[in-house]
Amino acid sequence: MQSPRAAELAERLSAVHRRIDRAVSDAGRADRPELIVVTKYFPADDVRILAGLGVTTMGESRDQEAAAKALELEELGLRWHFIGQLQTNKARSVARYAEAVHSVDRASLVRALGKAVATERAGSDHEPARDLSCFIQVDLATADGGAANISGHQRGGAAPADVVALGRLIDGTDGLALAGVMAVAPLGSDPAEAFGRLAHISTALQAEFPAASGISAGMSGDLEAAVAAGATHLRIGSQVLGDRPPLR
Ligand SMILES: *Cc1c(COP(=O)(O)O)cnc(C)c1O
Repeated sequence: MQSPRAAELAERLSAVHRRIDRAVSDAGRADRPELIVVTKYFPADDVRILAGLGVTTMGESRDQEAAAKALELEELGLRWHFIGQLQTNKARSVARYAEAVHSVDRASLVRALGKAVATERAGSDHEPARDLSCFIQVDLATADGGAANISGHQRGGAAPADVVALGRLIDGTDGLALAGVMAVAPLGSDPAEAFGRLAHISTALQAEFPAASGISAGMSGDLEAAVAAGATHLRIGSQVLGDRPPLR
């Protein structure tokens, strides 16, 4: 018999899939974005249930928590995407379990991730793992050339004007694969307008790196706007799992 939590997660997950289907059809898109279920702050048991419901890709934003879950659930063969702000001293740990990092926003982090993958490979006796996919996080609250974090918000992200240069650095780093761009719609802004700007930034990046076509955008509150703007990866947490428990 299904536990009450499993029944709840199944119901919530199908509601999200219905929302995505409707958004895809409203946008007239032929492709469907990939769903990343953001399991941060929720226990490994919930991740196990989600895996049983067919979710293959999980998003996490804190290294310690993500590393513990990835280890505990190793046999499930899940894909872990790191989506939170990342300190360079955590790069080595993240490179062990993550297949993608969505929050690459500065040169020092690119160098740390490149070194981390190289160290991982040197220390392993099996086939070199695939390259670590890197999405450049863009701060959409920053006007081009303007001061960062006008709103006083510390959410991370490179200034739009720095994206192509960062892309070149990632592309030129062994062990890293340039996947595309990522953003969070600034608080209080119109997500359609913000994601429209992200789509333009993506176009500029793809002019030089055609394979970097990923657009990671859209959370529980704004997935429709993200789908309409061409998002390829949606990061959905609370609509699947419920309100996050308070930080301990
Ligand atoms: C937590 C988080 C999400 C998920 O947000 P929800 O509103 O719960 O869907 C998506 N992206 C990032 C970067 C996050 O930190």
